[in-house]
Amino acid sequence: MTRFIFITGGVVSSLGKGLSAASLGALLQARGFKVRLRKLDPYLNVDPGTMSPYQHGEVYVTDDGAETDLDLGHYERFTGVPARKSDSVTTGRIYQTVIQRERRGEYLGATVQVIPHVTDTIKEFIGAGLDGDEDFVLCEIGGTVGDIESLPFLEAIRQMGNELGRSRTLYVHLTLVPYIASAGELKTKPTQHSVKELLGLGIQPDILLCRMDRALDPGQRKKIALFCNVQESRVIPALDVDTIYQVPVSYHLESFDRAVCEHFGLDASPPALTRWTDIVQHIRKPEGEVKIAVVGKYTHLQDSYKSLAEALTHGGIANKVHVDLDWIDSEVFEQPGAVQHLDGVHGILVPGGFGERGAQGKIEAARFARERHVPYFGICFGMQMAVIEAARHLADLPGANSTEFGPCQDPVIGLMTEWMRGNALERRAAGGDLGGTMRLGAYEAMLAENSKVRTIYGKARISERHRHRYEVNVNYKDRLEAAGMRFSGMSPDGELPEIVEFEDHPWFLGVQFHPELKSKPFAPHPLFTDFIRAARDQSRLV
Ligand code: GLN
Repeated sequence: MTRFIFITGGVVSSLGKGLSAASLGALLQARGFKVRLRKLDPYLNVDPGTMSPYQHGEVYVTDDGAETDLDLGHYERFTGVPARKSDSVTTGRIYQTVIQRERRGEYLGATVQVIPHVTDTIKEFIGAGLDGDEDFVLCEIGGTVGDIESLPFLEAIRQMGNELGRSRTLYVHLTLVPYIASAGELKTKPTQHSVKELLGLGIQPDILLCRMDRALDPGQRKKIALFCNVQESRVIPALDVDTIYQVPVSYHLESFDRAVCEHFGLDASPPALTRWTDIVQHIRKPEGEVKIAVVGKYTHLQDSYKSLAEALTHGGIANKVHVDLDWIDSEVFEQPGAVQHLDGVHGILVPGGFGERGAQGKIEAARFARERHVPYFGICFGMQMAVIEAARHLADLPGANSTEFGPCQDPVIGLMTEWMRGNALERRAAGGDLGGTMRLGAYEAMLAENSKVRTIYGKARISERHRHRYEVNVNYKDRLEAAGMRFSGMSPDGELPEIVEFEDHPWFLGVQFHPELKSKPFAPHPLFTDFIRAARDQSRLV
């Protein structure tokens, strides 16, 4: 029997609803249950694929090629359950579905309305695409209670509580209990108001998860319980922690998972939490430190590189070192000599990106890494910049560039349609993968024998997630290989370069995909583990 847990947020945004949902998912999983996590986002974009990373942080990509909210990354990192397209929906997608149905005449002349047509579509989504044997589906509602946009979602989950019965549904509300310095105490009023708002919409929360920066005294806990009409044992303090991977452990210590099991009348054995305590132990007690420069574009908002930052942390866990990240806007390296600032870092990572701004600075960073033998990890755009750098400075192609920035003499990076002819193009088109649209989701790559990357993965065939429009132009492969850049990973049909590396360098890899999306704290991605290992070796040299 599948049970539904709905997670709403109140008072302010950014309380970490995604992490709360992910951590509860991890706890239920540790008790032996099968879970699936979903996100309902109230904005009108059909998906976040078109949003600037500054607006909504990273766009997380699933194996089945959906561009989703970054919370799905938390879900995967905490539970290891690969997210799917059907785990993320927005108001835009819901309305698109409803309007298409209306145009097709599927409503048989009815007046199409928010209730029931939009809410029915939301409920349909919540129950769709499940395996059927899930014990729990955790549904996070984006935004904050009180937002106009989230009303249809809240109405839909209210209806579900009625239809399925309270033995199959649970409402968790995450709120803030702020400390007011002038009063010298934590204040419960915002929580009371937020719950009142939910009650006004017909939802009585069963569990309150209260974010606070210091412990709640028993009197205040009682007060919240009394005013919000929940049992005292279901007012769960959620104190700030030093690492996000401590959250499942802290929640368990506050009996969050027990409260959930009690609500459903489940007598489950206590969770095995050594996975999490081990991770936290490694993070808190590193045996060394490495400094990694992340040379990107959206460095002011670290949410735009969420999975990347986590994957680097996972690489640190695997090597028992603390990874100190230095976020650098690549544009600074466009000043003569500025790249020398990279002196002393133990590794350089150029992440994914779009557009010409700052591209030259990334090329400078790749050159510095290659010439100075500093470990270099180029991801997607970072691989493309490394290829341009090698073409210009090693393969004697000074006019090498990416057609993303306009026409150029040697398009070492470009759209497949610009060079594919005849059969190859038709084959791609038949696969629904035509140049000019993004290559999204999981694709396989074949790894060359005796290559660094094959040793790291320990296998010949891999599958990784992609999100890009441009490709390394395979017609330059021979020329670049003759200049020393090895094409060590190719698509199975041999048309698309997936990985490049230098052999006479301690660690220089460019990958066309996004390995950071699949890294987990309990299963760090091999490329990140090995990159941090190389950086650790470097730290012993400098
Ligand atoms: N802008 C590049 C492309 O579209 C790289 C994209 C990325 O780094 N995700 O191919």
